[in-house]
Amino acid sequence: MVKTYLRNIFGNLRKNFKLSISFKISMTYMGLYLLSIVIVVFSAMTGYFIYQTIGLDRTGELYAGVITQKTIREKEVISEYLIDERLNGVTIYDSKFEQILNTQSQLDVYVNNVFYKFESVLRDEVYVYSTSVFENNQMYYVNIYFDASRIIDEVTMIGLFVSGAGLLGLMIMVAVGPVASRKLVQPISDMTEVARTISANNINTRLNVKASQHELKELAETFNNMMDRIEDDYIKQQQFVSDASHELRTPIAVLRGYVDMLDRWGKNDKEILEESIQAIKNEAGNMQDLVEKLLFIARNDKKTLKLTKEEFNINEVMDEVFKETKMIDTTHEINNATCEDVIVFADKNRIKQAIRIFVENAIKFTPSGGKIDIFCDIKGEFVSINVKDSGIGIRSKDLKKIFNRFYRAEVSRDKESGGHGLGLSIAKIIILGHRGKINVRSQYGEGSTFSILLPYIKILPKAKIVNE
Ligand code: ADP
Repeated sequence: MVKTYLRNIFGNLRKNFKLSISFKISMTYMGLYLLSIVIVVFSAMTGYFIYQTIGLDRTGELYAGVITQKTIREKEVISEYLIDERLNGVTIYDSKFEQILNTQSQLDVYVNNVFYKFESVLRDEVYVYSTSVFENNQMYYVNIYFDASRIIDEVTMIGLFVSGAGLLGLMIMVAVGPVASRKLVQPISDMTEVARTISANNINTRLNVKASQHELKELAETFNNMMDRIEDDYIKQQQFVSDASHELRTPIAVLRGYVDMLDRWGKNDKEILEESIQAIKNEAGNMQDLVEKLLFIARNDKKTLKLTKEEFNINEVMDEVFKETKMIDTTHEINNATCEDVIVFADKNRIKQAIRIFVENAIKFTPSGGKIDIFCDIKGEFVSINVKDSGIGIRSKDLKKIFNRFYRAEVSRDKESGGHGLGLSIAKIIILGHRGKINVRSQYGEGSTFSILLPYIKILPKAKIVNE
């Protein structure tokens, strides 16, 4: 029982320690702070010690010459010169390192070794200064001993003071640090909480940008922008599904109507049978067309639409579309002005599909007897394929919307021949997929010109016609 309780407590603690960024930030700063205290204490103590020993070295340098001279030349008692209270004693050696003077008993060999000097400071609280003096044509070696106890006391005091101040700072840090760092990362917890609650039902929920600062503010803004885009796409997707279902409802209702009619009366009535079969055929074709268009758009949305590009002469495609149109439409005057031989690198079938969409629209929205011109010209680095009609035209308020999915202007919505409002969306997908552009010029009641602008590779030189 107690064991499980303890395990739970430790488990929770470990989890909190592991997960809490604020805890980690506090610990890192405390670690760094402790390290800097250690460095500051160490530097202060050694700095002060070095400063003091430099002073002792200077004093030693002053005394060494005088003491050696007096000892060698005047054979005077050296203690008279031990005027400085810090001086503990002197030892002098001749050039053969024979001791000729020793006013203290600590050492009887000449010392000029940094490690020994350091050790003697720590062990005996004595600082040894060593030098050589040239006197009477001879070299003498001198050790001067200074009392280092005061320096050690001062160094210890400095160490204690600096560490004390550092610890005081650490205590303040321990008290304030976690609160400050928790406050700093609070927006992250808020964001997590909000992000957790966002779903399809409340996709419009956004993070509170004002509550965060600096990089976290940027993060919140980026998150909100991303959510805006997702929401936009989500709404479009929903709209698409609902429009598509709506479009499919009419042909399905028509099909059901004819099937019911066939069921009731059509079995024996040849006329009804004929009419129903024809209508069912039409609606099935209509549905197939719609489903294919929907699939095309869905593939584009899923980025699985592939373009098989090749080099070809745009004139060939225009010619093919022109001939096909002439065959299926005899109610309009259709003209094709061949343009220069422009070579493009594109998906031939898709480009043909796009041109057909514009031509079919021109046929649909131009009353019988009207004129349709298919022609091309060069516009900078683009070849412009134009379909011009003398049809009903487009109102300027509709012009912005005609490329929207399922959009049909009022006039064409009433028309029986009207499509599903997907043609131009498909053409736009194809042309943009080729880094092209679409231009539309229209005058309501007078006609429209749709231009596909495609980047081209080259224009072939015109073949010369030689008259013999
Ligand atoms: P639809 O299948 O209805 O033709 P589109 O996407 O091809 O769908 O066209 C969208 C709408 O743009 C049409 O319903 C029509 O209102 C308008 N439109 C397109 N082409 C023309 C045109 N040549 N003349 C007049 N209106 C046009």
